[in-house]
Amino acid sequence: MTAKIIDGKAIAQEIRADLAKHVAQLTAQGNTPGLTVVLVGDNPASKVYVRSKQRACEEAGINSTVHRLAEETTQEELLDLITQLNADSTVHGILVQLPLPGHLNEEEVINAILPEKDVDGFHPINVGKLQIGAGGFVPCTPAGILELVKRTEVPIAGQNVVVLGRSNIVGKPVATLFLQENATVTICHSRTKDVAAEARRADILIAAVGRPKLVKRDWVKPGAVVIDVGINRVNGKIVGDVDFEEVKEVAGAITPVPGGVGPMTIAMLLKATVEAAARG
Ligand code: NAD
Repeated sequence: MTAKIIDGKAIAQEIRADLAKHVAQLTAQGNTPGLTVVLVGDNPASKVYVRSKQRACEEAGINSTVHRLAEETTQEELLDLITQLNADSTVHGILVQLPLPGHLNEEEVINAILPEKDVDGFHPINVGKLQIGAGGFVPCTPAGILELVKRTEVPIAGQNVVVLGRSNIVGKPVATLFLQENATVTICHSRTKDVAAEARRADILIAAVGRPKLVKRDWVKPGAVVIDVGINRVNGKIVGDVDFEEVKEVAGAITPVPGGVGPMTIAMLLKATVEAAARG
């Protein structure tokens, strides 16, 4: 049996079309949602991400501004810009594209963003709200993964969800989201004794490790849903953390890379910006 391919691109497009309608309503009320992205330095991957975020905003009718700062920008200059953006009522969402150049203190920069404008969900207030289910902003990739699984009508409550990776931007928050949906969640990481054995217990397996084709056919229970978060560049090609060709022969459903989780991340960023504007 070959797995159903979960088309993240098509699902994200549906979400973006719905958001565009909401944006039009807000605009008619004189409250066009606005996202400001801050990009420091010349990281080529970051430039590509920022361009696609900007394009998606424009398509949905969201005002998007990009502040491109030089690599040698100081911490003080960056913090001054965040203070200005915090005070600007036309800016509903602020996103500082990570990673920042090494001389800058990321934690201090993220902490400076007003939690109400932190559409990336990285501010400690939003991280804490996620833990207690208090409705702050949720990091976009985990939010996109949950939305993708829900829209694929995969049952979650009571299922075994295994997350590979425990980063603050993907692994931990996605585990929390599925726990809140009443799944039984296991988090694996680089020190887990037998990752393959844990993965084989999953009804829903989420791979967010950053190792090309780590997840093999014999890591996957027949019929399981496999969500591949990985974005790895191998010989100029983008591949996921899952060996797609092998695993699609055993999984019940699987996300491709590209075209799975990636487009959902951007759709969730737009959704958060629209929510921030709607909250006023
Ligand atoms: P990270 O490097 O911060 O974290 C990787 C995690 O994997 C760590 O917690 C580590 O303990 C764990 N790990 C390492 N080896 C392991 C192994 N053999 N088995 C199980 N766990 C292991 O990475 P990240 O920022 O969470 O990103 C993970 C991947 O997801 C990367 O490829 C990244 O590019 C991709 N990503 C994609 C999107 C998207 O929009 N699709 C967004 C964010 C990250």
